[in-house]
Amino acid sequence: MMKIGKKLESMINKQINAEFYSAYLYLSMAAYFDSMNLGGFSNWMRVQAKEELGHGMKFYKFVYERGGVVKLDGIQKPKSEWNGPLTVFEEAYAHEVEVTKMINELFEVAKSEKDSATQVFLGWFIDEQVEEEASADAIVQKIKMVGEKGNALILLDHELAKRGEGK
Ligand code: MG
Repeated sequence: MMKIGKKLESMINKQINAEFYSAYLYLSMAAYFDSMNLGGFSNWMRVQAKEELGHGMKFYKFVYERGGVVKLDGIQKPKSEWNGPLTVFEEAYAHEVEVTKMINELFEVAKSEKDSATQVFLGWFIDEQVEEEASADAIVQKIKMVGEKGNALILLDHELAKRGEGK
């Protein structure tokens, strides 16, 4: 087995940090929704936060499987105030677009280093990011469609309450 290169090792360590920051950001968004008594919106974000921890752990395991070393850095403080559900989901979507860029950069480096194991490993994340962007954007579009008014938000809140820990 080819040991992972130093550049990829360092980039994946940064990615682990980014995934844990994502979890922290979504948990902060969940807390914001809980403070507004929107338990369904909060549920969606809490499920999302758990998924991000799973992403971080996938990278963690991969580094060791490839003979690298994990070095954890400090996690950036997430913001805690937003101007309503639409801004929260717009930011969640924008955040996922940034994460996709990071994954794509990792893939480009893995390609240039002819590290095929890392390229195959990243394939799962490339698929996952398509889903992450689409699911955040779908909620942005729904909020835009129904507006941020009481009745519509409560219906959407009930829908988002149904999200379980599927995968
Ligand atoms: Mg992620």
